Amino acid sequence: VEGDEFLAIVEYNDVQEIQNKMISINKTLKKGVSIEGTIHGLSCKSGISIYDEHGSDFESLFKKSIIALEDVRVSAHSNLLMYDDTKDEYYSRRSRIELLLNSAFDKNEFRTVYQPIVNIKDNQIRGFESLSRWTSEELGIVSPGEFVPILEQTKKISRLDEYVLNNALVTNKFLCDEYGTRYIASINISVETLMKENFTTMIDDALEKFNYDPTLLELEITESSIIKDFEAVTKKMDYLKSKGVKFSEDDFGDGFSSLTYLTRLNIDTLKISRNFLLSILNNVKNRVLVQTIITLSKRLGFYTIVEGVEDQETYELFKDYGCDYVQGYLFYRPMEEQKLLELVKNKTSKKE
Ligand code: C2E
Ligand code: MG
Ligand code: MG
Repeated sequence: VEGDEFLAIVEYNDVQEIQNKMISINKTLKKGVSIEGTIHGLSCKSGISIYDEHGSDFESLFKKSIIALEDVRVSAHSNLLMYDDTKDEYYSRRSRIELLLNSAFDKNEFRTVYQPIVNIKDNQIRGFESLSRWTSEELGIVSPGEFVPILEQTKKISRLDEYVLNNALVTNKFLCDEYGTRYIASINISVETLMKENFTTMIDDALEKFNYDPTLLELEITESSIIKDFEAVTKKMDYLKSKGVKFSEDDFGDGFSSLTYLTRLNIDTLKISRNFLLSILNNVKNRVLVQTIITLSKRLGFYTIVEGVEDQETYELFKDYGCDYVQGYLFYRPMEEQKLLELVKNKTSKKE
């Protein structure tokens, strides 16, 4: 089909036969190929659609096998998946979103909102995380949880990341100049964006364009996909770090090989995932886990931020554990730029 994608059309009497066929192909691939005396094992993932059940023309069958393939690709456990027609509605919304995202940039439908991150000791603002919001003309508000993965899958996320970067730098620069603040602007950078050839140029250009202090920029690496080329990524990070840019690992505890990332990537800050918080108050094991993560983070020389703190009790707990910063509804929700400006204005004028 393209690159390493192949299409097989298989005659069958019952569905099991197709699955068996794919299993046998996989077995053969596993034996590997010998290149210059070294055996390289291969594996494959397959998405399957069935004639008549999922469509009766090539176009729709092909499209549905690709959808199943996309699903199986992100699955850690299976390498074979049948198109699931109970998810028809979900799929059609997804493809609608995919289509609408194409024009969302030109229509100016994205906004950037800001959520302050505070010091756990004195509740002073350390900086803010910049988050995207999308209001589609047709669908209304669509959450980042829904559109970010689609932008990632369709390789369009870097455009959004760059847009947010520019907005955040303008906003923070304004605050610096107007109120003399030294907040750190945190930006989410998808692995997709990080891997792009022009990634460092994109950051360099923005820093230069706004005459922005690099030490007030922190890039949050989200583990939404596996980093395939550590060497290339490390090189880019080292370059930016030499200029003073900071890096954090986002959502620690979710996703892929977090512990590997911790030691292999040269990060400054660890952000503990909100998922840990959901059961922390009544689960002793989770509390031990979080306490250990904070200790580990400290010993590796990182700052620790806990995300998604909504109540006083959890806040106190993290304070006791020696966590450095908090981000969560307990202090601030993500806010429009105008609200952030007002907040900072009030805070700084009170001091005077
Ligand atoms: P994230 O980077 O982990 O951002 C934190 C998320 O937690 C945000 O969700 C924020 O609104 C939410 N949050 C913060 N405090 C609380 C709390 O106390 N309670 C609850 N329930 N939630 C809280 P949001 O804005 O929906 O974003 C979701 C994810 O989408 C982000 O997770 C980030 O991974 C991704 N994302 C958002 N904007 C961008 C972007 O411009 N580029 C990229 N690459 N990813 C983005
Ligand atoms: Mg983040
Ligand atoms: Mg996070």
